[in-house]
Amino acid sequence: VVELGMPTRSVKTTCAYCGVGCSFKAELRGDQLIRMVPDEDGGANEGHACVKGRFAFGYATHKDRQLNPMIRESITDDWQVVDWETAIAYVARKMRAIQDKYGVGAIGGITSSRTTNEEVYTVQKMVRAAFGNNNVDTCARVCHSPTGYGLKQTFGESAGTQDFRSVAKADVIVVIGANPTDGHPVFASRMKRRLREGANLIVIDPRRIDLVRSPHVEADYHLPLAPGSNVAMVNAMAHVIVTEGLVDQEFIDNRCEEYDEWAAFVARPEQSPEAAEPITGVPAADVRAAARLYANAGNGAIYYGLGVTEHSQGSTMVMGMANLAMATGNIGRDGVGVNPLRGQNNVQGSCDMGSFPHELPGYRHVSDDAVREVFENLWRSPIAPTPGLRIPNMFDSALDGSFRGLYVQGEDIAQSDPNTSHVYASLKSLDLLVVQDLFLNETAALAHVFLPGTSFLEKDGTFTNAERRINRVRPVMAPATGKHEWQIPCEIATAMGYDMSYDDPSQIMDEIAVLTPTFHGVSFEKLDRLGSIQWPCVDEADPGTPIMHTDEFTRGKGRFMVTTFVPTTERSTRKYPLILTTGRILSQYNVGAQTRRTPNVMWHAEDTLEIHPHDAEDRGIVDGDEVTITSRTGETLLRAVLSDRMPAGVVYTTFHYPLSGANVVTTDNSDWATNCPEYKVTAVQVSVGAHG
Ligand code: SF4
Repeated sequence: VVELGMPTRSVKTTCAYCGVGCSFKAELRGDQLIRMVPDEDGGANEGHACVKGRFAFGYATHKDRQLNPMIRESITDDWQVVDWETAIAYVARKMRAIQDKYGVGAIGGITSSRTTNEEVYTVQKMVRAAFGNNNVDTCARVCHSPTGYGLKQTFGESAGTQDFRSVAKADVIVVIGANPTDGHPVFASRMKRRLREGANLIVIDPRRIDLVRSPHVEADYHLPLAPGSNVAMVNAMAHVIVTEGLVDQEFIDNRCEEYDEWAAFVARPEQSPEAAEPITGVPAADVRAAARLYANAGNGAIYYGLGVTEHSQGSTMVMGMANLAMATGNIGRDGVGVNPLRGQNNVQGSCDMGSFPHELPGYRHVSDDAVREVFENLWRSPIAPTPGLRIPNMFDSALDGSFRGLYVQGEDIAQSDPNTSHVYASLKSLDLLVVQDLFLNETAALAHVFLPGTSFLEKDGTFTNAERRINRVRPVMAPATGKHEWQIPCEIATAMGYDMSYDDPSQIMDEIAVLTPTFHGVSFEKLDRLGSIQWPCVDEADPGTPIMHTDEFTRGKGRFMVTTFVPTTERSTRKYPLILTTGRILSQYNVGAQTRRTPNVMWHAEDTLEIHPHDAEDRGIVDGDEVTITSRTGETLLRAVLSDRMPAGVVYTTFHYPLSGANVVTTDNSDWATNCPEYKVTAVQVSVGAHG
C-alpha cells in the first residue's frame, strides 16, 4: 500500500498505449508519480480515459526494467554489463565489420510504433545515412501497412480521413474488423454516445463483439462473415450500391476518376451478395439491407481495425472501403470518412517518419531524385535510391546468409511476428542482433547487445495518434538509463563515421518540419501553444487539418480501384478443420510486455481459446479444458472457453502472453502489397489435452 498524499506538481503528457492518444496530467508528489488524471483539454479524449492509460503505468518502474547496456559475444554467454561508451563502440564496430565482409546491405534496423516520432526519425536516419541503405522497416508492417498502401492508392494520403469528434455527426457507423470497446475504449465511448443518440450501426466481423449487443447499444446489422472473405463482402455491398443506383453521381463526377471501370466490375453478377453468400456465409438479404442503409445515410462513417488489414488481401480491402466511401460521397466532411483505428500509440507517427524501406519521411519514395536531393543536402549524406528490405525479407535474407546485423528498437519481434519458429531461426542466424527495449523480452534472449530504452514517463517528444493528431510527450522523470533514446542512434551513427547530433528533441522536430511538407508548420513551441496539431500542417499560420480531402483529394481526384477477390491459400481441411482468428482484451495490450507488469494482470491471467459449443462437443472439450491447437506451422496449448460469440467452425484467441504464443501457429501468408501477416486466418485442429 502506497501513501499517495496530495500532488505537488503535474506534467501534461500522452498515454503510451493505444492509437487514441489520450492526454493526461501526470501528478507527482515530489519525484513520485502518484496518479494519471485524464486531461479535459485533451483533443482526443476530452477528459476521458480507460483502465490501461489511467492505472497501467507501473511497468515504467517495474523491477524487470533493465537500466544498463549489456553485451555478449554469443547468445549462450552470460550478459556483461558495460557503460554506454563501450556498448555504442561495440555496436558500431560490429556493424561496420559485417558491412566490410558482406556488403553495405547486410545490416538494417526496425523502428517502433511505441517510441516517439523523434526517436523513430533518428533510427531511420541512422540506417539511411550511417548504414548507407534503406533497410529500415517498422512494426507497423505487421498491423497497418495495408492502410498506408490502400489509402495512398485511392485518396493519395496514408492516413485516416477524420478527427474523432467527427463521429458525433455520423448517421450510420460501419465497424469492420475492429473491437473498439476493448481495443480503443475512449473512442468507443464516443461512438456509443452517438449510437445512443440514434445513429445506426453495422458491424462486419466474424465475432459477435460487444458493440453488436450491449446495454443501450445494438447493431442494426451484424454481418458475421467468414475470416478471409472481407473483399467478397465489400464487393457485394458495392454491387448493391451501384446496381440499385445508390451512388452519389455528382460527387463521383466532380471528385473522382476511374469510376466506370470499377462500377462495371462490381455490377457483374458474380459480385452480387447472392454470389458472395457461399464465400462470406452471410445471408444476401442482410448484405443488401446493410449496403442500402450505408448508402442512404446522410453521413456514413467507416471505422476499421486489424480484421481488415491482417489478411492476404488487406490492402485490397482498404481500397474496397475507400471505393464504398467515394461511391456514396461519404468523404470530405464531418461525420463520414474511412478511419483506421490504430493499435499502438504511434503507428501513424512511425509510418510518417520514413520507417518504410521505400519511403522517406512524409511518404516520399526513395527513388524520387528531387526528394532525395532535399534530404541529401540537409543530411550531407547520399541516400540509396532503391528500396531496402522489409521485415519478412530481413528474416529470409538472414537465413540465406546475406543479412547479418539487425538493430531492433522497441519491438518484440520474436513474439509478435508470425510463424515463430521461422523468426527464431532467422534471428539466431545473425552475427549481431541489437535490442533496444525496456525489458529483456523474447527477442533480447537472442540478442548480442542490449541497449536499455526509456518509458513514456522519461520521454521528451511527440506521438501521433490515429486521427493524425501530434501530441506532446513530456518527461515526468529523468531517463533511468542515463540516456535519452533518441541519443542512442545518433551516437551509433557518429561512431560509424556519420556525424549526427542534436542538443534537444525539439531540434529533431524542427528538422522533420523542414524536410516534410505535411509537417512544415509543426514545432514544439506551437504544440505547447495549441495543445496538439493534426497534420497536414503546412505553415506557421496553419492550425492543422481535422478532416482531410474536403475540396479535393491529396492526389487530386479520388481513384476507384478494382478489388478482385482472391481467396487466401490458408483453407480449412479435414486435418485442420477450424479457422483460428485473433483479437485483444481491454486490460491487456499487444504482447503484454507492459500490461503484464502492472496490477492489471490480476484481471486476466492468461490467453484462452474461445470455441463454439458445437465444435467443443464434437471434440469432447468442456469449458476450462486444456486444449492443443495445431496448425501447419506449429502447436500451442490454451485453456478452452465455450462461447457462441464465434460461429461454429471459427475459434478465437488473444496474443498477450508469450507462453501460449498464438504466433507459434500463425502462417507465413501475408498481404500481397505490403507483406502484412495474415494473422486473422489460420487453419487449425483443436483437441483436448496436451499432446507431445
Ligand atoms: Fe490510453 Fe488508449 Fe486507453 Fe486512451 S483509450 S487511455 S490512449 S489505452
